[in-house]
Amino acid sequence: MNAPARPGASPVFATLGCRLNAYETEAMTRLAAEAGLGGDVVVVNTCAVTAEAVRKARQEIRRLSRENPGARVVVTGCAAQIEPETFAAMPEVAHVLGNAEKMAPASWARLSADTADTPRIMVDDIMSVRETASHLIDGFGTRARAYVQVQNGCDHRCTFCIIPYGRGNSRSVPAGVVVEQVARLVDRGFAEVVLTGVDMTSWGADLPGQPRLGDLVRRLLRLVPGLARLRISSIDSIEADPALMEAIASEPRLMPHLHLSLQHGDDLILKRMKRRHLRDDAIRFCQEVRRLRPDIALGADIIAGFPTETEAAFGNSLALVEECGLSFLHVFPFSPRKGTPAARMPQLPGTEIRARAARLRAAGAAALARHLDAAVGTSAAVLTESPDMGRTPQFTPVRLPGGGAPVGAILDLAITGHDGTRLIAAN
Ligand code: SF4
Repeated sequence: MNAPARPGASPVFATLGCRLNAYETEAMTRLAAEAGLGGDVVVVNTCAVTAEAVRKARQEIRRLSRENPGARVVVTGCAAQIEPETFAAMPEVAHVLGNAEKMAPASWARLSADTADTPRIMVDDIMSVRETASHLIDGFGTRARAYVQVQNGCDHRCTFCIIPYGRGNSRSVPAGVVVEQVARLVDRGFAEVVLTGVDMTSWGADLPGQPRLGDLVRRLLRLVPGLARLRISSIDSIEADPALMEAIASEPRLMPHLHLSLQHGDDLILKRMKRRHLRDDAIRFCQEVRRLRPDIALGADIIAGFPTETEAAFGNSLALVEECGLSFLHVFPFSPRKGTPAARMPQLPGTEIRARAARLRAAGAAALARHLDAAVGTSAAVLTESPDMGRTPQFTPVRLPGGGAPVGAILDLAITGHDGTRLIAAN
């Protein structure tokens, strides 16, 4: 039994990676408290989406171990699930928990017991997991918006992606549990909820009657009338269902912002990625949602420097930014993930990958500037995230006038300018 690093305090949690990890950290905070874990425990919830993410996880473990001498470091999340031995080999690490184990009360009870036979590695085959572990959370730290998990895992096998090996196959949270969770957060004062998962558009495929994501959105808005703003984290445009398109067109409480998992703008590369859409499908989808919801803002993930990408193929990704009318671009320099097919393909030189990522980011910055220019002179309902920062329904960041706004409030503000990355508001 370790001497408590911070007697009476609760464990330190550090979260890397996606919104789903952020949601799960909230649930783990509760599980750890219920198991009676205290200040002698540090939990690092890791990400494995790129090699850089795994490097950052190790760095964070070392930093937190230094800052909390004597504490037991527990590593969990996708990097822990995919390469548990790597983390178990670190002298700073006491235990490694898999992605299913981190959501199981029994794991935390074992950590709390901390006996000689508490295993160092508690990581099972994630592909055998069939259910989502539904934990109702009561809050989300001091944040203005709360993330709610509706789906986990993925049945697709895009050639560059390691996520299914960390998260397992797709499984959905039943609609009733999602409604109860969102209602609970609204009761606790949250004005905005973000539905999150790994492959959101596959929600419902494993549920009776196979409802679709659009059905869930409509049901939520109907059954939780107090929810002011509903947001969807990220979708695969080719799998957007008719009910979702209908909701985008007609539900003002569904925020006019979608983040699309596009990944590339060239058909041959999309095929080599094993994506389910072609460039014209992406362009058509963006035109259609803009026809249905003219004030919508679109963002997208795009990979630069995928193996075998020619200058012409890269040019098709650059052109996609304007052809889809994207406003927010997340650019990922290709990072080979061991065990994925793309890691075995002929790689581009690192310098070329970085140069193309920089060109794509420049195109993204120009697209954002166009989006910001168009908003100047309008007014917006801004959800405050901090005393001086908030976001519009389009998820556009806004610098608030005069500071001091309560976090989580929705303010109607005039947009008077921008600084190239954020809008500037006046009272
Ligand atoms: S859809 Fe493709 S990119 Fe997305 S999580 Fe699944 S395998 Fe990865």
